[in-house]
Amino acid sequence: MEIHTDVVIVGCGVAGLYSALKLPKDRQIVILTKSDAKSSDSFLAQGGICVQRDEDDYDSYFEDTLRAGHYENRKESVDIMIRGSRAVIHDLVEFGVRFEQENGEFVYTREGAHSRPRILFHEDITGEEITSTLLERARELPNVRLLEYTAMTDIIEEDGVCKGIIAESVQDTEEKPVRYEIYAGNTILATGGIGGKYQHSTNYPHLTGDAVDIAKAHGIRLEHLDYVQIHPTTLYSDKPGRRFLISESVRGEGAVLYNEKKERFVDELLPRDVVTKAIHEQMEEEGTKHVWLSMAPIPTEKILKHFPHIYEHCLEEGYDVTKECIPVVPAQHYFMGGIWVDSDSHTSMDRLYAVGETSCNGVHGANRLASNSLLESLVFAGRAAADIVRRGRTV
Ligand SMILES: Cc1cc2nc3c(=O)[nH]c(=O)nc-3n(C[C@H](O)[C@H](O)[C@H](O)COP(=O)(O)OP(=O)(O)OC[C@H]3O[C@@H](n4cnc5c(N)ncnc54)[C@H](O)[C@@H]3O)c2cc1C
Repeated sequence: MEIHTDVVIVGCGVAGLYSALKLPKDRQIVILTKSDAKSSDSFLAQGGICVQRDEDDYDSYFEDTLRAGHYENRKESVDIMIRGSRAVIHDLVEFGVRFEQENGEFVYTREGAHSRPRILFHEDITGEEITSTLLERARELPNVRLLEYTAMTDIIEEDGVCKGIIAESVQDTEEKPVRYEIYAGNTILATGGIGGKYQHSTNYPHLTGDAVDIAKAHGIRLEHLDYVQIHPTTLYSDKPGRRFLISESVRGEGAVLYNEKKERFVDELLPRDVVTKAIHEQMEEEGTKHVWLSMAPIPTEKILKHFPHIYEHCLEEGYDVTKECIPVVPAQHYFMGGIWVDSDSHTSMDRLYAVGETSCNGVHGANRLASNSLLESLVFAGRAAADIVRRGRTV
């Protein structure tokens, strides 16, 4: 089947959806996703989304992001993300996203490696709140066509220019898969992370870095493919499948890590890579498959209000976090590297953009600061849309 459109967007997590919403309503847009529209990592985000709280927060936010990233971050991108943060939050609220408030003011939480609380949240399901709202708004647009269970298998390259994508229906039916040739004036890759390539990951298994593989095959510039973040605390399980994340904001609110002897062995609020390393060393030393996380320092009332889903999930797995420690283990979580893009999210191929986790604009350097990813995805997805409008290219 042949489709002609102004913009094709591959992926409907926050990055893909926000690009679509920031494009003018007179552009025809096709969005596709390999799975159903709700199966994206964006729906899984628990902790929250960072924002520059006020003018005084700029320097410390900038420094926290760089310190966590081992000073390998692209400074221009970090600046763009921080300065763009308040406009993005304003947009989200306008779209209908609800963040925790008290007396009409936002409530901010803190996570590891942040020098002050600057994270907005919605219980412990911030990603679901943001992404389901964006999805609802996108579904209302008459110029947006959403194809679920449709996987990009290649891009269409003509004379070094991207002219769209090839895709295939992937629904589990007896029928022959439908092959799509989607010709577009602009193509946006928003296919998320690479966790599906790992045995233990917090990501959806269908997120297998397809855009990165396709980009590589076309000689498109890639960057830092070895920068993969391992999250220090996922609920230990010997069952196969996605690992359940115990958000960093749990430690931000006071939870502590224990070894087998129930002794603390690391400052829990150090950057993720440092805490992960300490846990691995502890497990090796003691010959254990996990360490312990205690939420005892957090008042029960706060656990039930701020972390109701973590509480319930752990209960289903047989642990009452208000009364006992839970076993935790590090797992693959986030991809800092990806398809190289400039500060407008443009790749090295003409008419091809990459946004969200599949792209590498250098914001995160060698290690992502907690809760910077939703924000980075949104800010740079907005910039891709603005660049498309600026260049005025249609089908
Ligand atoms: C458990 C968990 C908790 C997290 N918590 C936080 C947090 O608190 N704060 C924060 O900032 N970040 C958090 N993150 C990271 C953040 O959620 C992700 O980095 C971000 O949502 C990525 O958004 P995205 O739009 O790039 O990708 P995704 O939301 O993963 O979307 C990718 C989309 O691409 C589609 N796709 C993939 N391949 C293909 C293909 N070949 N063809 C068609 N479609 C394809 C998928 O189906 C999906 O629709 C968390 C991540 C996880 C896993």
